[in-house]
Amino acid sequence: MRDKLYLDGEWRDARGGETLPVVNPSTEEVFHTVAAAGPEDVDDAVRAAARAFHTWGRTSGAERAPHLRAIARRLRERREELATLEVLDNGKPLPEALWDVDDAVGCFEYYAELAEELDGRQDTALPLPDGRFTCRVRYAPVGVAGLITPWNYPLLMAAWKVAPALAAGATMVLKPSEVTPVTALELAAITHEIGLPRGVLNVLTGTGRGAGEPLARHPDVRKVAFTGSGPVGVKVMSACAADVKCVSLELGGKSPMIVCADAPLDATVEWIMFGIYWNQGQVCSATSRLIVDERLAPALLERLAHESRRIVIGDGLTPGTLLGPLVSEAQHRQVARRVQSAVADGARVLCGGKRPPELERGYFYEPTVLTDVPVTSSAWAEEIFGPVLCVRTFRTEEEAIALANDSPFGLAAAVMSADSERAERIARQMDAGIVWINCSQPTFTQAPWGGTKKSGIGRELGQWGLDNYLETKQLTTYTSTQPWGWYLKDPSGAGT
Ligand code: NAD
Repeated sequence: MRDKLYLDGEWRDARGGETLPVVNPSTEEVFHTVAAAGPEDVDDAVRAAARAFHTWGRTSGAERAPHLRAIARRLRERREELATLEVLDNGKPLPEALWDVDDAVGCFEYYAELAEELDGRQDTALPLPDGRFTCRVRYAPVGVAGLITPWNYPLLMAAWKVAPALAAGATMVLKPSEVTPVTALELAAITHEIGLPRGVLNVLTGTGRGAGEPLARHPDVRKVAFTGSGPVGVKVMSACAADVKCVSLELGGKSPMIVCADAPLDATVEWIMFGIYWNQGQVCSATSRLIVDERLAPALLERLAHESRRIVIGDGLTPGTLLGPLVSEAQHRQVARRVQSAVADGARVLCGGKRPPELERGYFYEPTVLTDVPVTSSAWAEEIFGPVLCVRTFRTEEEAIALANDSPFGLAAAVMSADSERAERIARQMDAGIVWINCSQPTFTQAPWGGTKKSGIGRELGQWGLDNYLETKQLTTYTSTQPWGWYLKDPSGAGT
């Protein structure tokens, strides 16, 4: 495991000599220590990235693509080891961590292809109404990008930013979450090993205040891509405003699922569980508000509670575990507090609502279903970021859609119905960047990811993810042999 900053192709301690402990959430024990970067380290890293941009920024997509493929290959070769580190750091069950590594591999491979395709899109001619001119469009890398990531998918969230930024020809400083810094350093080691030029990717572990904020504020950073909580997103956006930096924000959500009376029971229970228990519910797009037709509600909730109680909870490295611990003590405290306040507001605990009695150590919390949650309760309105589902029932489709859209967030939404026309009709009316029909959460590198309203600005993944790191530039040429003739009516000079 690495413990230093990766800066300008070298490993070094933070200038201030500060470090951060890294805790295993299953055991509550410190298993590692990493360097904690400060503003001076951020400045060094941004300068290194700016120097590297002079050459990396001029490479073609075809020259960059092999680097992305080599990173993908090394990630695949180290799959089990990286997934194990992710479990130690984040707590998620090993099969989920393996899924994350596979997705990260796919992300680098996908953007290798897009890097090559980008060459083919360069200098696209734009038809103009004036035949004396030709116009071409070129896509230029944005410059130095600051990438700030959260703790819920440490390696994957880094991949979602690093891969498209590399493909575009940007250089970057990655600041992973202080809660889960381990795999970002391994990614740095992989880029070193495969010969990515020095300074193209710099990785600074450290806190939000010590490293994240100076990175977002640094005047030589041209683009900030942030994934994290809403309040910090607002701070990042304000920091970017001073220099009019490009900014993309992937923030939180409170994603609803509408379940119609004709929805198939088994499949619906399965997708609800996948929507709220995967990654311990610490998913920005988690299906955390269930809006179910009152005719189906009794049967559905009975089955959901039964299946929720059967989920195997434990250390993510223990075979058979389906639900690991929450990522930190702070997160455990805030989930417990949110559930308590929902109950105080009048919600009913159908199942869960506490630490599993047999697990005294570790930040474990039972799969929890809260019914009759008042719309005025903060549990209904705000992100809990834990395995906690809030349920309400509806009578009419209009009521369900209004309830679903009555949220400051708009990241994701889902609808379950056996009637495809109804599902489509509801899906179109849901105000969210991602709408799942008869499923919840499957995510594809090819498809745009991001939210409306307070869930963020911009889209990651797909073509949109690459565009985040490109500036669009027009090159317009005057090709006519005729003089322009506005001021110089007689270009020969006669008569002047
Ligand atoms: P967080 O906002 O606390 O931290 C995110 C990152 O920002 C960390 O690296 C942190 O160190 C850094 N940071 C903190 N203060 C900063 C500041 N002032 N300036 C710059 N950087 C700063 O979020 P978290 O608790 O790590 O992650 C959970 C949140 O992330 C949830 O709200 C979740 O919904 C969101 N999330 C969103 C998506 C998405 O795609 N929309 C994906 C994953 C997580």
